[in-house]
Amino acid sequence: RRFGPSPAAGLSGAARNYPNVPYVIDEQGTLTFAEVDRRTDAIARAFVAAGLQEGDAIGVLCRNGRAFVEAVHAASKLALTILFCNTDFAGPQLADVLAREGARGIVLDEEFDHLLDESVLHGRRWVGYAEGVPAHPTLEQLAAFPARAPQAPNGTGRLVILTSGTTGTPKGASRQGAPLPAIVGILDRLPFRRGQVHHIVAPMFHGWGLLNFSLGLALPTTIVLRRRFDPVETLRVMAQYRVQSAAMVPTMLQRVLQLGPEELAKHDTSALEAIPLSGSAIPGDLATRAMDAFGDVVYNFYGSTETGWASIATPADLRAAPGTAGTPPMGTDLALIDEDGNPVPQGETGRIFVSSMLRMEGYTAKDLRKEEISGRMSTGDVGHLDEHGRLFVDGRDDDMIVSGGENVFPREVEDLLSSRDDVVEAAVIGVPDDEFGQRLLAFVVPVEGSGLTDEICREYVREHLARYKVPREVRFLDTLPRNPTGKVLKRQLRELPLEA
Ligand code: ATP
Repeated sequence: RRFGPSPAAGLSGAARNYPNVPYVIDEQGTLTFAEVDRRTDAIARAFVAAGLQEGDAIGVLCRNGRAFVEAVHAASKLALTILFCNTDFAGPQLADVLAREGARGIVLDEEFDHLLDESVLHGRRWVGYAEGVPAHPTLEQLAAFPARAPQAPNGTGRLVILTSGTTGTPKGASRQGAPLPAIVGILDRLPFRRGQVHHIVAPMFHGWGLLNFSLGLALPTTIVLRRRFDPVETLRVMAQYRVQSAAMVPTMLQRVLQLGPEELAKHDTSALEAIPLSGSAIPGDLATRAMDAFGDVVYNFYGSTETGWASIATPADLRAAPGTAGTPPMGTDLALIDEDGNPVPQGETGRIFVSSMLRMEGYTAKDLRKEEISGRMSTGDVGHLDEHGRLFVDGRDDDMIVSGGENVFPREVEDLLSSRDDVVEAAVIGVPDDEFGQRLLAFVVPVEGSGLTDEICREYVREHLARYKVPREVRFLDTLPRNPTGKVLKRQLRELPLEA
C-alpha cells in the first residue's frame, strides 16, 4: 500500500495537499497555499529577470505581511541567500548592512521606498517586491513575467538573520534553512497542530518571528499577520480568526494586559492554546498575570540569534517556577560553565553554553565570533538551574554591575521593582562611581498618578534585597526605550545626561 504525497514538503507540498486552505491572512485579505505558490513562482521569475541567480544575496525589508512571506518563498525557490533587514533601520544603517553582506538586490515594502537613495542602491538592483512589479501585484500582473518557474536544484538558500544589536552594530548570522529535526524538537513542546490559525505578532525579520513562520509552514497552519503591533487589534484578530497561537515578545503581551480586564473581556479569546514568548526576559510576574487572564497558554523561549533556542518553558513550568526559561528541547544541549571552563554545581550561577541544531554557522562578518567550549556556543548570558533542571536566566554577561566588589545582575532589581502595582516597568544600569567603581541607577515608569517617589522605590529594594543592590538614584520616565524585539536599549539610557 502506498502513502499519498508527503504532507510536510514546504510550500509546494502544502499547495499540492491543501491548495484552497488559507495560508496568509493580512490587511489586504487572504491568500491560499496554491495562490502563494503560483504568485511566488512568478515573483521568482521576476527576480531572474532582474538578474538574480542561485547563491546571490537579497535583502528583505518588509513588515509582517504577504510581501515578506512571498519574498522569502520566491527567494527560496531560487536558493537565494536571504538577508532579513530590521524595519527600524535608518537609510545609512541599511546601506551598511546591505554592503557588508554583499546583497545584490532588495525587496521592500512601499513604505520604505524613501530609503532607496543612491547610498542604499549603490550597484544593487531594487527588486521592490520585484522590479517592474506593482507593490501589491495581482496574479494576472505576476503571470505577465515570462519563462518557466525557476527551481533551484538545491532548494532553499541560506538565511542571514541580524542580531538585535543590543551590544553594538547588528551582526549578520547565517545558516542553511531550519533543519526538520530541530523543528520537530520544538513542536514537541508546543500544542501546535496542522490546520490551526497562528497570529505571528512578533516581527518576522527577527529570529523569533521567523521561527514561528517556519513552525507554521512545517505543519502547515494558516498565519494571520498585521503590519504593526496594536494591543487592541491583537485581541480583535484573536477573536475574529479563532487564533490558537499568538507569538509575541514580552512587551507586546505586557501592553495587551495593560488594556485591563474590561477590554480583555470584550474579545473572545477562548480558542487560544499558546502565547509563545521570546526575544527578551519576561519581566516580573507577566507570565502569571497573562495565564490568569488567558488560561495556561504562556510558553517562554530562551535563546539567541547565534545559538538557536536553548530552552523552552511550558505553562506548567511557569506555574511551578514563575520566570523560568524551562529546559532544553529535544536535540539541544545546555551547560552552565564557570570562569575556568568547568560545569558549575546545580544551583550556582554560570555562563550559558548551548549546542542546538538551529545554531548559526557563523557571522557573515568574519571577525566576529561567539566563544565556544566543547562544541557548545556561548549565549552571552549567565544563569542557574533549579533542582528540577529548569533554567533561570539571570542576565547578560556584560550587563553585570560590579559595585563595591559585589556583582549585581540588574534583572533581579528590575523584576522586584516591576512587581509593584504602581510600577509599569523598570530598568537598572551601572554608572561610574569614584568610590564603588559602579553604582546602580534605576529608571522607573510609574503608573500614572501613583505618586511614586525615589525614596519609596529605594526603600522597597532595601526591604527585599542586599544593601549593595539598592539603586543610589531612581529616575522616572514615561516609557523605556526598546527595540522591536522588546529589549530595553540600555545604551540609550546610559547616554541620558547624568544629572536630571
Ligand atoms: P547583539 O548580539 O547584537 O548584542 P542580542 O544578543 O540582543 O544582540 P538577540 O540574538 O536578538 O540579539 O537576543 C538574544 C538575547 O536576548 C539573549 O542572549 C538573552 O539575553 C535575551 N533573551 C531572549 N529571550 C530570552 C528569554 N526568554 N529570557 C531571558 N532572556 C532572553
